[in-house]
Amino acid sequence: MNPAPIINKKSVKSALPLRQAQKQEKRLKGKGGRRPLKNYLGKVVTLSPPKSTLEKSKTADVPANVSVDELLCAIEKAGLTGMSGNGFPIHQKITSFLAAKPGNRILLINAVECDPALVHDEWLLHNRYAEIRQAIHHLKQTLSLTGVVLAIKDKRIRPNDACTIATVPPRYPMGEEHFLIRQALGIPIESDTIPAEQGILVLNIQSVYQIGKIISNDYDGGRFVTIADLTKASARVVYVYPGENIATLLTAHFGAQGNKTLHKGFGAMSCVTADKMDDFSNCETFAAYVDVPQIDSKNKCKHCGSCTRRCPMHIKVAKIVQNTDGNRHFDNASYHPERCMQCGSCTYFCPASKDVSGYVTRG
Ligand code: SF4
Ligand code: SF4
Repeated sequence: MNPAPIINKKSVKSALPLRQAQKQEKRLKGKGGRRPLKNYLGKVVTLSPPKSTLEKSKTADVPANVSVDELLCAIEKAGLTGMSGNGFPIHQKITSFLAAKPGNRILLINAVECDPALVHDEWLLHNRYAEIRQAIHHLKQTLSLTGVVLAIKDKRIRPNDACTIATVPPRYPMGEEHFLIRQALGIPIESDTIPAEQGILVLNIQSVYQIGKIISNDYDGGRFVTIADLTKASARVVYVYPGENIATLLTAHFGAQGNKTLHKGFGAMSCVTADKMDDFSNCETFAAYVDVPQIDSKNKCKHCGSCTRRCPMHIKVAKIVQNTDGNRHFDNASYHPERCMQCGSCTYFCPASKDVSGYVTRG
């Protein structure tokens, strides 16, 4: 099953708690300009205080200087993968980066967290900033970086000696690597180019935090994720370990499931249904209770064209939907569905609540 959005504009509008959370976020951070991305989703949850101690406390070793080989070896041994949920091994990404032109090596830290239901990166930014700065200092030295840029939406973060701050507009999907590089660094980069091979290493903020823990010999295999009850627009940041049961954790924080459905994945725009037996693996970043989602391919298309206008990759999504629903013998390949980055924007903005992105990803 492909991950898909579990909310859309219509469902947010009709659910008072989600609508209020979105309004509050808009008041706090504004919507930013419509360039280069016009989609605005904001946040549909508000962060509740943590219920218990997050990480198991352990006295970290004072970080020593590590060589590149030692660092890569330690990251590989820890099995650290991209904390945005892509599951890509971080040591491989760093290896490609190091093979790039040595004169100009930039680390771009992604703390943009554009999914409307994720809050753990922002929590880290405010609650683990000292540790992240220390990790940046180590990465700078070890990887001979020429620059470090921290991309954020929150204007309250002050510039510091560890990195340059780039404030980006809270548009969606700004967290996607190529859009972020264009916006935060002003470097035009094609969507089929691998940034690490061009000397731009993009790491999620939690990846940097966890690399810091690896250097301090304090890494324990756990990570921060967002859990939420979307029926109440309530979210919490928790520290989980692979193998921890999702339903048990949600019940402990939000009470019994009742007739809500359980979902897991990488945010409200990229989820699959889960059952009571499902555990966290080492890549999910999100789990939530949701009212039964009304998004369904069987709903009738209104021919409004919104899905095409909202697609950041300029795919003619409406054509694909209409050809498929009309059983027309037309080769949708000419609309380049392979460019789809599975952001879910087309589904979110569809007034007919169709599972639009599914048409593109399923072909
Ligand atoms: S077609 Fe793909 S890239 Fe375009 S809006 Fe839909 S999910 Fe996003
Ligand atoms: S699929 Fe939805 S957004 Fe796209 S044209 Fe049809 S009704 Fe409009």
